[in-house]
Amino acid sequence: MKRRTFLKGAGSVAFAPMVFVPRLFGRTRRGTGMKLRYEVKRLDLKHTWTIARGSSQFKQNVIVRVEKDGFVGYGEAAPNIRYNETVESTVAVIEKAIPLFEKAEPWHYVDLGQAIQELAEEQTAAKAALDIALMDWVTKAAGLPFYRFLGLDKKKTPITTMSIGIDTPEVIQQKVREAADFPVLKIKVGLKNDEEIIAAVRAVTEKPLRVDANEGWKSKEEALEKIRWLVSQGVEFVEQPLPSTMLEETRWLRDRVEIPIIADESVKRASDIPKLAEAFDGVNIKLMKAGGLQEALRMIWMARSLGMKIMLGCMIETSVAISAAASISPLVDFADLDGNLLITNDPFDGVKVRRGKLLLTDRPGIGVVPRA
Ligand code: MG
Repeated sequence: MKRRTFLKGAGSVAFAPMVFVPRLFGRTRRGTGMKLRYEVKRLDLKHTWTIARGSSQFKQNVIVRVEKDGFVGYGEAAPNIRYNETVESTVAVIEKAIPLFEKAEPWHYVDLGQAIQELAEEQTAAKAALDIALMDWVTKAAGLPFYRFLGLDKKKTPITTMSIGIDTPEVIQQKVREAADFPVLKIKVGLKNDEEIIAAVRAVTEKPLRVDANEGWKSKEEALEKIRWLVSQGVEFVEQPLPSTMLEETRWLRDRVEIPIIADESVKRASDIPKLAEAFDGVNIKLMKAGGLQEALRMIWMARSLGMKIMLGCMIETSVAISAAASISPLVDFADLDGNLLITNDPFDGVKVRRGKLLLTDRPGIGVVPRA
């Protein structure tokens, strides 16, 4: 990505030369301010992406870049209409953050992280971009990979699933073949043709499957019938079988099925988790729902304290947001961090996947560099 393609924020000046200045951890220079820029990026999808909510052929995300003292932090927002987010609403929040970053002390990242959360009601994708960029900057300036900053062992990253969106049986089988390197697949269901989809997958693979209904089943009885059948098809767990408003029904369902039920649309932030513990076995934490890395970490501790399983998920995202999530993945049980693998024009290089295993880089920060 070329620097000049970033929109220039109000009041910002030209980039400082990229001179590496040796510095002690935590030492700060006052009054320089952080320069915040952003760029709307069109991401082209390998296949039309269909889930229970709808279809898309491309995605528009917003890449954020913060710079101070010669270090550059990257962040990303993947706006999701499910949460009333658009590119416009996301950009509006990011623009509000420009003066905040100008006067902020980034080493006080807990305070700045809190100020980011207070920029707007909801709009967590925008907040995620800002918080990821902040934590990338902090850990680059500290000279440490983010996972090492947290004291995590990069060998403990989980296997990530590859997600298979809803499609015709022929295309689904093509996607399954393309996912040959992944030992576990995540299958999107929740429309009328669930049986057809699973049959198409099972015709070409014996791999363990995880299933995501994306709130697509509309009654607890329908969900119960579907899940019992899915268990017979080798499904390990099911994600968000019922709409997020149907907590009581989900609790009823959980008492009657033997595989874990994981919350996704029902959970955004840490404060949502306690009330879910009776109805769900686990939570799918996503940086875009949480509003960034700092809140995602609070969610992990909250879910663990309640004895819940933890999955780390994603939206359609570049290697920026995926690498950020992968950096905290040694803390979780399951990963579904394949959003960057569903696009053809990822502008960044970061975390890699081998036989499903997430491989973190040794680069400082979240471990990403722009592709030439
Ligand atoms: Mg999901």
